[in-house]
Amino acid sequence: MYFGSVRFFKDLILSSIALIIVILLSLAVFFGIKSSAEHKKAVQAMAQYQELLSQDKLNIPESASFEEIYAALKQKGYSAQKIVEELQKIDSSAMGEVYKTNFYSDETAAASYTSLYPDLYVSPPTEFKYSPKTVYLTFDDGPSDYTLDILNILEKYDIKATFFMCGSSSEHGKEIMKKVAEAGHSIGMHSLSHKYDEIYSSPEAFLKDFNATYQNIYEATGVKPNIYRFPGGSINNSNRFIYRQLIAEVTRRGFVYYDWNVSAEDADNAATWTSVYKNVTKGVENKDRAVILMHATREVTVLTLEDLIVYLKDKGYSFDKITNETKPEIFGYK
Ligand SMILES: [Zn+2]
Repeated sequence: MYFGSVRFFKDLILSSIALIIVILLSLAVFFGIKSSAEHKKAVQAMAQYQELLSQDKLNIPESASFEEIYAALKQKGYSAQKIVEELQKIDSSAMGEVYKTNFYSDETAAASYTSLYPDLYVSPPTEFKYSPKTVYLTFDDGPSDYTLDILNILEKYDIKATFFMCGSSSEHGKEIMKKVAEAGHSIGMHSLSHKYDEIYSSPEAFLKDFNATYQNIYEATGVKPNIYRFPGGSINNSNRFIYRQLIAEVTRRGFVYYDWNVSAEDADNAATWTSVYKNVTKGVENKDRAVILMHATREVTVLTLEDLIVYLKDKGYSFDKITNETKPEIFGYK
């Protein structure tokens, strides 16, 4: 009797094992082929894209409007950065046009965090202005007691500057922020916590801090800030994986952000009068427009500021504050 015999069960077990092996092998082959096909497709797409970039034959008529150029490049699959480069070949002030169409807007088109803080919007500028031979003194990280010293020096020389502030929870800090606003300087945001690992951990965490900064500065000064400086600059080591989303989201909400093209390096613990003076005077060399990064929390900044102002005036620079209509100074773009 074969059925029910020891041999029957032996065969049954063996054929079951064989069947399982066959199924597993088929699955492996199927998914292997599929993933290699997808991989091939991705490699091809990448190659096409590289080809497109290297050919650099855009055939866009000179009379085309910025919107037409932008649309044409977009259709060809160019990145936002490439579009900026192409537009700038045609007109160096094109930065503003690209900015208006939202930097990296594809990055956040459908992201869920775009619906957070539905009131956190400001009116974007209608145009950007460029003033030649101008210095923008910018002071990050305040308020602090040094902020008051800086205000006194600026007043002495009748200079308006820009304060990218971290906000404050103390009454004293809020008073200082109010004084900055009342003196007619520009009030910008620079995050509330200033903790890179927190704010750059996700777009949601960034927005939470961004909103808190906005509210804090508005409550303290009565000014609705519309300019921002990313802690560490718009592209830094801590935000390198999400900077495109952050930039897209900040600009989508109408805010304008500013990096710098001269750094006083005054936040460095080893900074001295000599090092700060040298960094700024060397930094502005051959620059028509200088956006100078300094800090409102450092004694060395207060000690050096007056001498720097005298030097820069002597070099023929005018001083101005940044508003959201000032042409942005952004890393990587002229
Ligand atoms: Zn800072």
